[in-house]
Amino acid sequence: MVNKHNFSTKCVHEGDIKDTMYQGIVSPLFMSTTYPWFGGDAEKKPYPRYFNTPNQEFLSKKIASLENGEKALIFTSGMAAISTSIMANVKIGDHIIFQNDLYGGTRNFIQTELDKFGIQYSFTKGLDIDDFKAEIKKNTVGIYIETPSNPLLKIVDLELISSLAKEDGMWTMIDNTFASPVNQNPINYGIDIVCHSATKYLGGHSDISAGAVISTKSKIDKILDSAKNFGGNLSDYTVWLLERSMKTLLVRVREQTDNAKILAKILDENNNISKVYYPGLESHPTHDIAKKQMNDFGAMMSFDLNKNIDVYSFLKSLKIIKPGMSLAGVESTVNFPMKTSHGLMTQEERDIQGIGDKLIRLSVGIESHEDLLNDLNQAINLSIK
Ligand SMILES: *Cc1c(COP(=O)(O)O)cnc(C)c1O
Repeated sequence: MVNKHNFSTKCVHEGDIKDTMYQGIVSPLFMSTTYPWFGGDAEKKPYPRYFNTPNQEFLSKKIASLENGEKALIFTSGMAAISTSIMANVKIGDHIIFQNDLYGGTRNFIQTELDKFGIQYSFTKGLDIDDFKAEIKKNTVGIYIETPSNPLLKIVDLELISSLAKEDGMWTMIDNTFASPVNQNPINYGIDIVCHSATKYLGGHSDISAGAVISTKSKIDKILDSAKNFGGNLSDYTVWLLERSMKTLLVRVREQTDNAKILAKILDENNNISKVYYPGLESHPTHDIAKKQMNDFGAMMSFDLNKNIDVYSFLKSLKIIKPGMSLAGVESTVNFPMKTSHGLMTQEERDIQGIGDKLIRLSVGIESHEDLLNDLNQAINLSIK
């Protein structure tokens, strides 16, 4: 469990900027892109693309502390954080091992960009530690994982991955978006670099695009060297909005997680649903690993509707829950992975991962769980063929 008191105080106060002019209680917003220089190290002066304006510096302190890291950088999107962090840690001829199940955008980045720069990669066949071992080559420099994974909430063992990598001097990087810092802190288990799509739980209101990376000071400084070249810094205005959102991170995600735990149990007994994928269910194949390394089981789940239920009719019949592409907002959303997030994969690739044609992904919000359940049930009942 996270130390809730400590965590929630950090959500509200860590890294807030004092308003020394008027003593207002929220952080002021500094929009300036230019600060005076009379000599000395120019790169130490605040400049948005150096990731060191006052608002960037202070919010990155909050984000780093919530993940138990030393330093963080804030980007315009999750993909900017992920792609910059990967490119900063490879050179021509290097090889990276990627977990098989990954966010679609990350997989697309790997498959369309890395070849151009002579960077080799393999996707694991499964998610056991032996699947990762099997892909190690002489030139492997790093392992990249995403747990719980999208959309089937599969779990990878963080401790085993980090010790495997350390034996060979490889770096480890994780996409921790689905868990959020509330439900999982991978640095505690030896993972080196933690990435987030802050568009999801850190923002939490489906109205901000942002990303973040957290690590030790030396690893972040290395990523910063590349980040200054790629230029994916977030505008200070959005940094300020993200700070406002993050004050409620714990209360939002805790409520979402509590709702999800209740829904998963009840949906698991629903005769119109053939399977529920949620790491908090004891029937989940890697429930024990989730229990060991997660503070709580998160607010993302998926389920397979029965064969006789029409998916499009189900999506159209929902009244509270919104069909949408994104996730993690305070409003519940559903998505149809086969046609959206995983629509670019071949049928064979989807079959290997277990993404079926009745699979629905549910991002649980903060509405009342009774209302959410009633909404799901009435939509299912209207869609039985
Ligand atoms: C959304 C998402 C991303 C990409 O984030 P953007 O902010 O859209 O660039 C990466 N990983 C996961 C798990 C995501 O859900």
